[in-house]
Amino acid sequence: MELTPFEVAKKQIDVVAEEMGLDPNLTKYLKRVERALIVTIPVRMDDGSLEIFEGYRVHHSTVRGPGKGGLRYSPEVNLDEVKALAIWMTWKCSLLNLPLGGAKGGVCVDPRKLSKRELERLTRRYTSEIINIIGPDIDIPAPDVNTNAQIMAWIMDTYSMNKGRSVPGVVTGKPIEIGGSVGRESATGMGLYYTLEAMCEKLNLDFKSYKIVIQGFGNVGGTIAELLFKEGCKVLAVSDISGGLYYSEGLEIEKLLKWTKEGNYLKDYTDERYDLITNEELLSIECDVLIPAALENQITEKNANDIKCKIILEGANGPVTPEADKILLNKGIHVIPDILANGGGVCVSYFEYVQDIRAYFWELDRINRELKKIMLKAFEEVYELSKERNIPLRTAAYIIAISRIAKAIELRGIFP
Ligand code: NAD
Repeated sequence: MELTPFEVAKKQIDVVAEEMGLDPNLTKYLKRVERALIVTIPVRMDDGSLEIFEGYRVHHSTVRGPGKGGLRYSPEVNLDEVKALAIWMTWKCSLLNLPLGGAKGGVCVDPRKLSKRELERLTRRYTSEIINIIGPDIDIPAPDVNTNAQIMAWIMDTYSMNKGRSVPGVVTGKPIEIGGSVGRESATGMGLYYTLEAMCEKLNLDFKSYKIVIQGFGNVGGTIAELLFKEGCKVLAVSDISGGLYYSEGLEIEKLLKWTKEGNYLKDYTDERYDLITNEELLSIECDVLIPAALENQITEKNANDIKCKIILEGANGPVTPEADKILLNKGIHVIPDILANGGGVCVSYFEYVQDIRAYFWELDRINRELKKIMLKAFEEVYELSKERNIPLRTAAYIIAISRIAKAIELRGIFP
């Protein structure tokens, strides 16, 4: 039976605990979240009716600093998924050595079915419901699947109205006009790019002529598609929730980005050269780099044998299950794990938070320079440990991340 994301996250802890000889008491502790809040969100719809939604905010670990993690709007969101995503945020912040912990939020809703006003009311009510467990010193939300800068602006405003003063540091991924950072929107894609570049350097590969396949064409998938397309890579296939497009000579990414940014689905794009494919078919296309950038649990023991690429660059959080990891390892496919590869987003979110607190804003070249420095340092540490101990990159990344958390717990002690 397929594991849920939370079960996957716990299994990953077990794999690493064994490899690093982690104290079983700590293993037990790290599999629990610090707190999980479930809230009811009543929303007055435009037609006067009342709809009730469920929302969540989870803190996994704040031992190294305030919680940090995105907010997801999706009909598939549930507490199990949000817990897993919060755990992965703890590891990601720790691996990048940011003074932040792991958190995540979600609302079980299909935002495409809501008007802009309904979406605003939903966001403001959700913010009010979780107001006691967010804040610049507590937990700082950010965008994730189906949330964006506008939604962050509503959260910031709702929080600020309740506090009686402007508090830009309560969320990141805000519009630049109200304390957002330059470079935040493209940060996750940039981080993926730097990581892929570093990996290819280690393997003596020139990725600039590579064939790329990308699942998910939103913030993360769209940005990395554009960056690689501009470098001369052939992007053979991309997909969104509606399905995917494939062309053996390479898709015209800029035209597709314009199309989806206007609110259209990929399946409705017409170009007679392009074949319409499913998300499942996309994953088995022969290519050099496969980038899952949609949701978790996409590459499982069921389809891992069909994957035909050299490198999997995890744009999404948790796209490959532990069982699939074993199969991919046997096939000699390099998996660059999510907590390393897609860390660019939280990294620039951290810069945004620092800029808000200091009320001093940086230029784009400083953002990208500092982002690259942090990404490459983490990459180097992970790569070296993986070589030294002959272990997969994911295990190496987890050992580094969990060791820092374990040290922080040891130094702080268990209260009381
Ligand atoms: P997004 O909402 O901007 O884009 C999501 C994309 O995935 C869209 O193209 C959507 O149509 C597609 N999608 C949604 N459900 C799908 C399904 N069932 N099958 C196939 N495609 C589907 O979201 P995003 O911010 O790009 O996030 C994508 C992934 O990257 C998520 O796993 C997220 O947690 C992770 N991530 C995001 C950031 C960030 O900064 N935004 C940072 C790190 C990790």
